[in-house]
Amino acid sequence: MKFVVAIDGTAASGKGTIGKKIAEHFGFHYLDTGILYRVVAYHLQNSSDGSKISKQKIQASLKLLSNKNFNVTNLRSKKITLEASLISKNNIVRRSLLLYQRDFALRVGGAVLDGRDIGTVVCPDADVKVFIDAEIHVRAKRRYDQLCKYNKDLNFKNILYDLIKRDDLDKNREFSPMVPAKDAILLDTSNMTVEEVLKKIIAIISEKLKK
Ligand code: C5P
Repeated sequence: MKFVVAIDGTAASGKGTIGKKIAEHFGFHYLDTGILYRVVAYHLQNSSDGSKISKQKIQASLKLLSNKNFNVTNLRSKKITLEASLISKNNIVRRSLLLYQRDFALRVGGAVLDGRDIGTVVCPDADVKVFIDAEIHVRAKRRYDQLCKYNKDLNFKNILYDLIKRDDLDKNREFSPMVPAKDAILLDTSNMTVEEVLKKIIAIISEKLKK
């Protein structure tokens, strides 16, 4: 069976948590596409303006991906997080990652992909498309609480600023900007628990699977 769920959304909107749980619930494969951009950013460290990236360099970082030769903790650092947003405006990077993502979506057994352009560019024919957002202060507070477990010296304002900056870069880039697909279900999760969001999406997918 081929069944694709596209979950797009703003930074720290919870799409990763939701995507993973949805995949677990239905036994689908799961791909966090943000990791792909982070791997490329890590491999290309300091080419951050994104304008001088060669195809060869990207292919080399894709090899790391295929070999699963990367450390997720490093990829979540503040530096790599921002650099991923910067290099993601480069269309050579985007096009090189497109095939990888589309291959993944074709996996037998169903697939959930989360990102920024899954419903619009990567899988425009996805069976279910969801775009998740939440009020910026709510997202910053969630991210703050999440990171506080590991780092006690966090500054809420910096986290807020970083999210605003990333959303701005992602929304305003020329290629594949972050925008809900016309046929996506929009979910504002500002006042919802993870369980409430899951229940809603599970109901939508279950309905679609019956058809
Ligand atoms: O989802 P995550 O925050 O890990 O993504 C890191 C960055 O990768 C995003 O800020 C965005 O610039 C880029 N990205 C993208 N398209 C995707 C997934 C991520 O441009 N499908």
